[in-house]
Amino acid sequence: MTNKRDYYEILGVKRDASADEMKKAYRKLAMKYHPDKNKSPDAEEKFKELSEAYGVLSDETKRRQYDRFGHEGIDNRYTQEDIFRSAHFEDIFGDTGFDFGGSIFDTFFGGRARPSRPQRGRDLVYELEIPFRTAAFGGERMIEIPKREACDTCGGSGAKPGATPKTCQTCRGTGQIRRSQTTPLGRFMTTSVCTTCQGRGSVIEEPCSTCGGSGVVRRRKKISVKIPPGVDNGARLRMSGEGEAGERGAPPGDLYIDIHVTPDPIFKREGDDVIVDEPISITQAALGSEIKVPTLKGHAKIKIPPGTQTGKTFRLKEKGILHLHGYGRGDQFVKVVVKTPTNLTDRQKVLLRELAETFGEDKGSSGIFNRVVDGVKERL
Ligand SMILES: [Zn+2]
Ligand SMILES: [Zn+2]
Repeated sequence: MTNKRDYYEILGVKRDASADEMKKAYRKLAMKYHPDKNKSPDAEEKFKELSEAYGVLSDETKRRQYDRFGHEGIDNRYTQEDIFRSAHFEDIFGDTGFDFGGSIFDTFFGGRARPSRPQRGRDLVYELEIPFRTAAFGGERMIEIPKREACDTCGGSGAKPGATPKTCQTCRGTGQIRRSQTTPLGRFMTTSVCTTCQGRGSVIEEPCSTCGGSGVVRRRKKISVKIPPGVDNGARLRMSGEGEAGERGAPPGDLYIDIHVTPDPIFKREGDDVIVDEPISITQAALGSEIKVPTLKGHAKIKIPPGTQTGKTFRLKEKGILHLHGYGRGDQFVKVVVKTPTNLTDRQKVLLRELAETFGEDKGSSGIFNRVVDGVKERL
């Protein structure tokens, strides 16, 4: 479990705050805790916490993950430092007169810019439509997605086969350039990422001709998706490592499958229970009968007792949907709907009029069948 504070609380915004509201809140608080202004010892922690909260909530995909699953939903490989780097500092703080670039970064994250590791591959989201029954019982679906995959020719290294990446001459393989920098807090020795090799420490002189040195190629990939029984509309499945390949051997991203369930013409779902509307006739309702109703697997019989009213619900135990987590399954509820007969034959009309008379009704032409039903109600 995590004892992290709620991201919305950290930014002091409502859960439905717009991107703009969050940006304003972040900007205001970040300036409050900026080391030039705030010398209190916990300012640094506050600033980091703030940057993490904004880093997550300003990213639409991550915000959705967070809303659904809380802190558990956020990829723990995504460190505070990464989030700090990802926030758009120029855009947000460009006109504040404060330095939110290298020096504050160095102050907070140990006085050195870490060489940038090759970028982890992007996460992908696939919208998958499945039939109602597949959601109920689970199954497997093949999907095909276009994505960046590690290049087969160079194995993802980006170098031409046989050629090896050479040590970067600019930074002598460290991936960093050291320089002294004057900031409002004094003079610092700062370290920044080498621009020649983008912090990798090595350069490729002979790039792989298949991928042009990136180590990745685009192609369509077939992936089999296992759908767990009981999954519901709006669920998101995560397939670890099935996202895009990382640059030059960096780890791949994840693939998220967003489940959309096609509604069923017969079955409605409420949690793990299913609901079926079943029409019965006036005579079945009044005299009682046994009816056959569809279930998710085959049919079941239900005894309709005499005098059953329209809307009465019968329960079929454990005929519902399998619980997604854990054992057992939901129930099926059958709601009977008494159908008023139409297109009566002359003989049927005569019989119904006779019936109406026994209920003490006149033979008025309107609403007779409603009154027949009301009469049945009174008697039973
Ligand atoms: Zn290649
Ligand atoms: Zn370099």
